[in-house]
Amino acid sequence: MDSADFFENLKENKLVGVQCNVCGELSAEIRYFCSACQGADLSEKEFSGKGKLSTFTCISIVPTRMAEEGFGRDKPYCSGIVTLDEGPRISARILNVDASLPETIETGQDLELDVQLRDSERPILAFKYLG
Ligand SMILES: [Zn+2]
Repeated sequence: MDSADFFENLKENKLVGVQCNVCGELSAEIRYFCSACQGADLSEKEFSGKGKLSTFTCISIVPTRMAEEGFGRDKPYCSGIVTLDEGPRISARILNVDASLPETIETGQDLELDVQLRDSERPILAFKYLG
């Protein structure tokens, strides 16, 4: 599996990473070697898409691409680290939150995969905040 496959799966709102056939280590990102044992014997692993918010940051100084989506000083966006129910952590955009009021966003809340599609661009890995 390569990064093209990873993004094809995301387009179908499926998060498919890898599992090491030697030590069982899971990764929700594309890897060619196991991050635990450096083995290269990996299988595809589809994740449930459910997880919890571990940490987050609200960003108001945004890259050009985000500015084109309307984000900026008046409309920050939220980026977080999601701990998947299966264990691995992954960085993703957090949706369904008011990033201008970060005090209303709580870590530990349930999240659900909600990939955002943008025309011809790569899909955006995002999770919907269910708190
Ligand atoms: Zn391993």
